[in-house]
Amino acid sequence: MSDSPAALAALLAEAEHAVVLTGAGISTESGIPDFRSAGGLWETYDPMKVASMGTFMDDPALFWRFHRPRIDMLGAVDPNPAHQAVAELERRGIVKTVITQNIDRLHSRAGSQEVVEVHGSLDRGYCLRCEHTVSMDELCARADAAEDGVPRCDCGFQMKSGVVLFGEQLPMEAIEAAYDAAERADVMLVIGSSLQVTPVSQLPGVVLARGGRLAILTESETDYDHRCTVRIHHKAGPTMQAVLAALKAA
Ligand code: NAD
Repeated sequence: MSDSPAALAALLAEAEHAVVLTGAGISTESGIPDFRSAGGLWETYDPMKVASMGTFMDDPALFWRFHRPRIDMLGAVDPNPAHQAVAELERRGIVKTVITQNIDRLHSRAGSQEVVEVHGSLDRGYCLRCEHTVSMDELCARADAAEDGVPRCDCGFQMKSGVVLFGEQLPMEAIEAAYDAAERADVMLVIGSSLQVTPVSQLPGVVLARGGRLAILTESETDYDHRCTVRIHHKAGPTMQAVLAALKAA
C-alpha cells in the first residue's frame, strides 16, 4: 500500500473511470467543521436531534435557530484547493463523477460539473405539504421576517431547505446515480470521509467487488484502510495540490 501523492497521481493517471467520493473533511479547510473530528459539530450540538425531521416537525423554531445561521455561514465560505483540484481532474477527463455527502455546494462552486449530492443541498426551499418551491434567498427572507424565525409557505406549513435531515428519505435519484457511478468506477478516491454513514459507506465496497481500486485521503482511520491501493492520512488541500503537481510533472 502506498501513501504518497505521487502514488495517488499514478493511480489516477492509469484510471479510465475515476470517481471521487467526498465527505465533510474536504470542506474543513474552507472553515466548515465536520461532524466527528475534534472541534467538530458533534461536540457542540447533537445533529441527530437539531438536524432531524422529528425536530423540524415538532419544534420548527428550534430547528430554524440551528439551521438559519448555518445557511449564512455556508454562504460565506469558499472552495479550497482540494475542491479546486477535484474540479481540475474532471476538466482533464480523469474524474468522471463526484459523489458528495456534503450539502455546502463547494464542488459546484469550484467548477465540478458531474456532482451527485446524496444528502441534498442548500439549493432551494420547499414546503413538505404542498411542495411549493422557492429560492434560498426567498426561504431566508421568509425566515428573517417571521417572529419565531420559521419560514412558512403560502399554505401556512413550515418550509425546509433541500438538505436531507436525519430521519428523512435520501433522494432516490441521487442514490441510484451514486451506485451507478461506483459500478462503473475502476478507481474510487475518497476524500475527507470517515465512511461511517450508510449507504455511502458501502460504495467503496461496490468498487472493490468489481475489481476496481481504492484510494483514501482522510485524516482519521476508516474501515476500508486495509483494502486501499493508496492510503494518505494528511490534509486534503495540500495533498491534492501535490497530486496535481505530480500529474503535471509526469
Ligand atoms: P465525518 O465528520 O464523519 O468525517 C470527516 C472525516 O474527514 C474525518 O475522518 C476526519 O478525520 C477527516 N478530515 C477532517 N478534515 C480533513 C482534512 N482537512 N483533510 C483530510 N481529512 C480530513 O464526515 P462524513 O463522513 O462526511 O459524514 C458526516 C455527515 O455530515 C455527512 O452526511 C455530511 O453530509 C454531513 N456534513 C456535511 C458538512 C458539509 O456539507 N460541509 C459538514 C458537516 C457534516
